[in-house]
Amino acid sequence: MAGLRAAEELRRQGFDGSIKMVTAEAVAPYDRPQLSKSLLVGTTSVEKAIYRDAEYYNNLSIDLLLEHRVGSLDLRERCLKTSRGSVDFDDLVICTGAAPRRLGGIADMAGVHELRTLDDGVAIRDAFGKAPRVVVVGAGFIGSEVAASARKLGLDVTIVEASPAPLARALGNDMGLACAGLHADHGTRLLRGVSIESVEGHGRVERVRLTDGTTIDCDLLVVGIGVAPTVDWLAGSGLPIDNGTVCDATLSTPAKGVYAAGDVASWPNELFGLRMRGEQWTNAVEQGRHVARNILADAEEQRPFHGSNYFWSDQYGVRIQFAGITAADEIRIVEGSVAERRFLAWYRRGDRLVGALAMNEAKSLMLSKTLIEHRANWNEALTAFEKATAS
Ligand code: NAP
Repeated sequence: MAGLRAAEELRRQGFDGSIKMVTAEAVAPYDRPQLSKSLLVGTTSVEKAIYRDAEYYNNLSIDLLLEHRVGSLDLRERCLKTSRGSVDFDDLVICTGAAPRRLGGIADMAGVHELRTLDDGVAIRDAFGKAPRVVVVGAGFIGSEVAASARKLGLDVTIVEASPAPLARALGNDMGLACAGLHADHGTRLLRGVSIESVEGHGRVERVRLTDGTTIDCDLLVVGIGVAPTVDWLAGSGLPIDNGTVCDATLSTPAKGVYAAGDVASWPNELFGLRMRGEQWTNAVEQGRHVARNILADAEEQRPFHGSNYFWSDQYGVRIQFAGITAADEIRIVEGSVAERRFLAWYRRGDRLVGALAMNEAKSLMLSKTLIEHRANWNEALTAFEKATAS
């Protein structure tokens, strides 16, 4: 997503030099958000998940180099060493994303899946047809959305989550708990504070043993326990790596003309005074475009990237949206209620509004997002919100 948006923005801004998109994948960029939702329940086809056809890339004169796995970066020669030869560059945008964390101690066993790529999505979709009992490890985005999709198909679903709450990393513990009820509402068992001890079966998963000693029989195990940025290929390049590619506020690495965007980029987000790494679709879109504009700008016109960390998640027909950060002194429900499954919660840090979470309150969330982006004072934000919602 970040790479595609960077390339498109370069053309939109009038750049007429050569653009090469280098990817290990065998397919053109696709819409990852659909993989855990509509693709799994069969309302989106593989063809529809792929953003653009070959003609689109041809028309934009973007050279899409599929099945080119990049092994290393040579900054002196300004080239990438790929599985199909070298690729030279003047400017480089690193958008290698992230890869799923693996559950330890599982030998290659049929019926155990992760979800990151289009192929992974297709494999889980196909497995759903033959697997009435599904166990999902992790109640983050992947786990929660896969569980919701499986329930939509009428499968028996149990989620095993190590934290006390689902989505805790993204929303904080309290608001993660506020979203937990959705699983119960739709017949998904959610086990919290417990993990997988071992996976048992003869060549194919048959049951999982949990750290509390209980066992669950299953036909399919989907693992969604987080991701790690894909930076192994940068070892030896001289670029600083620390939870991703270390960038400055403009998304530039210390190497001239080398930028990063998307899940792999760690940058100081001046909006919140924090170094961050965003793993969300919107972050990839915005950073890709931002880097393209900085590539074309003069040195003194390089602009910092201020992302509001916006994301959404669709589960059981309910839309959850968040913008901002969760490090807060207070979280207050300012509209609706958790019981109604329709609410807006605000996160206050000091005297600032720093975060907002909505369940089925899209309009209010977008208003909150704008206030967060304008670094709104808490009391002033409350007044502005009351005024806006009264009218
Ligand atoms: P995630 O959102 O980080 O959630 C992983 C969850 O698994 C965490 O709650 C984690 O708890 C838990 N966990 C870790 N180890 C565990 C274990 N051994 N047993 C049980 N639970 C365990 O990651 P994800 O759901 O795998 O998603 C992967 C990536 O896809 C993320 O970058 C996510 O942003 C992205 N994605 C986004 C969306 C969306 O925006 N709607 C949808 C799908 C995927 P701890 O935090 O305690 O470790």
